[in-house]
Amino acid sequence: MKNKNLLIVISGPSGVGKGSVIKELLSYLETIELAISATTRKKREGEEEGKDYYFFSDDIFDKAIKNDEFIEWCIVHGNRYGTLRKEIRRINNKNKLGLVEIDTKGARKIKKSFPDALQIFISAPTMAVLEERLKRRKTESNEDITKRISNAKEEIKKIKHYDYVIINDSIFDSSKEIEEIIRKRFNL
Ligand code: 5GP
Repeated sequence: MKNKNLLIVISGPSGVGKGSVIKELLSYLETIELAISATTRKKREGEEEGKDYYFFSDDIFDKAIKNDEFIEWCIVHGNRYGTLRKEIRRINNKNKLGLVEIDTKGARKIKKSFPDALQIFISAPTMAVLEERLKRRKTESNEDITKRISNAKEEIKKIKHYDYVIINDSIFDSSKEIEEIIRKRFNL
């Protein structure tokens, strides 16, 4: 990949299935790699340090901000999340494309450092489907689910800032649609 600093940004409401679509895509598109974010959110059961996130204490997150280690960081659903510069560097050094899965506020901020970033929004067929998916995965409290649904309504208002919107009806089909967009955009 000749042009470094290329980036793919994927956003979408919590529960929409972004994680599953990205996992599917990464399983066959070897030229892209997920940049692991840092977060102050508590680790969920089954999550691993350095695989799902770098789990930072508030103090460590403060230090990382002070040392300019983030390309962007935001408060999402009450916790801090940030894209680490060194993650993007690590991926680019392998001649791969970095993929970040971040919220809509973060996506807007990242445009400043990566104006050519490909920005994709993954949406659900309806709000009711989204709510159903969030409840079914049973990883959040009722209070957290309410917060995530209310945030989803705000996030969906931001789709106009994205290059592409994918309606996630099927994980496989969505990943294939995204693959096609990436191949076209980056001449892969
Ligand atoms: P979760 O707590 O479900 O793992 O993630 C909540 C939300 O945080 C996700 O929808 C994701 O888009 C967002 N997020 C994850 N990493 C980052 C990041 O590095 N920066 C920003 N701005 N948002 C992030």
